Amino acid sequence: MQDFSTKEILLNCPHCDTKSFALKFPLCDTDNFFATCDVHPLTKGHILIMPKKHFSCFGEYPDSIIDEFDTLYKKCSEFLVETYGSVSSFEHGKIGQTVFHSHIQMFPYSGSEKAIIPEGHSFLTKIQSILDLKWIFKEKDMYLFFSIGKNMWTVDTSIGKPRFFRDRFAHALHNPKRGNWKEMRTNALLMKKAEEDMSDLLNKWNRKFKSS
Ligand SMILES: [Zn+2]
Repeated sequence: MQDFSTKEILLNCPHCDTKSFALKFPLCDTDNFFATCDVHPLTKGHILIMPKKHFSCFGEYPDSIIDEFDTLYKKCSEFLVETYGSVSSFEHGKIGQTVFHSHIQMFPYSGSEKAIIPEGHSFLTKIQSILDLKWIFKEKDMYLFFSIGKNMWTVDTSIGKPRFFRDRFAHALHNPKRGNWKEMRTNALLMKKAEEDMSDLLNKWNRKFKSS
């Protein structure tokens, strides 16, 4: 049984609607997931992985689709490192989401974690694998997850808020105006640049995975 608010979320969810703007530039799909260009990229090479079914975050994925996710996550990580030189990722586990459908964001970034969490290391908990988010979510019902290269952390959720990671990575990537994707959408110049970034990603992805 779904309550009214959950129903509302599903009806208005841009990630449940395969014809929505969010899935305009798909890269590939598997049985249960899409990998797609983020249509409001923070930088060149910004990929989203999202489940086809509506789950709020990775922490809610059923065990049956975890291996499939992990394979796709690794494929995108390797592609970004090979093509753009580095990889970072993040997800809001149900806290501070602006779209309430799980989407793991992946893009090249090789800076320091201090640039993302200047509040200090006491706000960070190192984790060994993205799979740890399953039990963390079970225990705490929320998380803020990010990675830089092979290092992964969760962040103290007391400092969480909407666009927490987008804003911080946008600054660290020297594209501060790309943090707020709703404002970005209304900026023709930024969206033109974003489209160039997306074609760059699509071309490079296709060259690697779709050439015969
Ligand atoms: Zn959805």
